[in-house]
Amino acid sequence: MRLSRYFLPILKENPREAEIVSHRLMLRAGMIRQQGQGSFTMLPIGKRVMDKVCQIIREEQNRAGALEILMPTIQSAELWRESGRYDDYGKEMLRIKDRQDRELLYGPTNEEMVTEIFRSYVKSYKDLPLNLYHIQWKFRDEVRPRFGVMRGREFLMKDAYSFDLNYEGAKAAYNRMFVAYLRTFTRMGLKAIPMRADTGPIGGDLSHEFIILAETGESQVFCDREFLDLEVPGASTDFGNDAQIAHIVKEWTTPYAATDEMHDEAAWDKIPADDRLSARGIEVGHIFHFGEKYSKPMGAKVQGPDGKEHNVSMGSYGIGPTRLIAAIIEASHDDAGIIWPESVAPFDIALINMKVGDHECDSICERLYDAFQAAGKDVLYDDTDQRAGGKFATADLIGLPWQVIVGPRGAAAGEVEIKNRRTGERETVSLAVALERFG
Ligand code: ATP
Ligand code: MG
Ligand code: MG
Ligand code: MG
Repeated sequence: MRLSRYFLPILKENPREAEIVSHRLMLRAGMIRQQGQGSFTMLPIGKRVMDKVCQIIREEQNRAGALEILMPTIQSAELWRESGRYDDYGKEMLRIKDRQDRELLYGPTNEEMVTEIFRSYVKSYKDLPLNLYHIQWKFRDEVRPRFGVMRGREFLMKDAYSFDLNYEGAKAAYNRMFVAYLRTFTRMGLKAIPMRADTGPIGGDLSHEFIILAETGESQVFCDREFLDLEVPGASTDFGNDAQIAHIVKEWTTPYAATDEMHDEAAWDKIPADDRLSARGIEVGHIFHFGEKYSKPMGAKVQGPDGKEHNVSMGSYGIGPTRLIAAIIEASHDDAGIIWPESVAPFDIALINMKVGDHECDSICERLYDAFQAAGKDVLYDDTDQRAGGKFATADLIGLPWQVIVGPRGAAAGEVEIKNRRTGERETVSLAVALERFG
């Protein structure tokens, strides 16, 4: 992508409304535009990050055996009356009427809808286990939307729903999602700690929140430092092996970790003082087992091997991709701007032409641009007529992992500079080496 043809509305000033660094940097880097209270447009560079985050989530959901669908955002009140949640949900739910005066709502979550889909088709235990997920916009009329996309009213959620014959099967499904979540967050460069959590309005008796430690987090959390050194399961993890998956979950649930609501002072006191980590955290994911809470009132039953009908045992599993973008920035930035982990960076390389119009600079940049792209790299080529200082500031602000800098002096000698955004290390290399490095 040529920056001269791109839409990257950088802000020079710090926006006053932004209280936390991720919100400030997302606005300054031209990632988002606020449209209303808690609602945002994803501008081109923000959209690219969002897509990368969603793609990682998708790959790990698929790896764990979940199947992607896409349910609508607008749901009928009738469906929610079946579960009894229409009246319970309260003011966080946006309620709408259509022209026939039918009561609708903008989905804050999809347990009812997915249960309706399930009960319409699945009748036998032979079709289980089943896990359906989608990545779709949600609306929650939050009391305090704030911190940009961290707590929006309209936000993206990946929500998965598992269906099993009995508790044993549901527990195995829960464990698969637990491990998929560990892998998902690690791939985004984040250290997420699973903590015993309250189940809230979703209901149920087994639940973990995945928390990123950050000073700006809205939750108070308590955990054992041991988590910081636990190894995250690799890509070769066999999701078909229930025992192996259960073993990983055991390892990741043995040290103490709890959110404020579930905190147990007596257990906490038993941990050596040096190992206690009491901190603020950001909830980026939340998994629940809730058994028959929806299947029973909504009649989602299958025939078991015993020939009898059983209400299916269910769980639901949420991740907030838009909140994650902000959480990644909270965890990875410096004074100059964002530092994207390579896996979610909007582009891999910022190619900076320090002197557009200089024949050598232009021709070297064109050559590198073509070669890097041909090698499958996403390149943002700064071919604008801004001064070099401004270009460097922009590249640092938007945080692409690598900068390849082409200036007139180097160009004349057939050399370019490579800068690593994270370490700040700079290296002058020949054109051939640059081509080899990224080409
Ligand atoms: P919170 O405690 O922050 O209000 P929640 O517990 O209500 O979140 P869940 O119902 O567990 O949220 O939803 C699953 C995931 O969706 C959360 O873990 C979070 O990543 C994301 N999420 C929830 N609410 C918001 C929001 N208002 N803006 C952005 N993401 C959100
Ligand atoms: Mg909430
Ligand atoms: Mg919560
Ligand atoms: Mg939650």
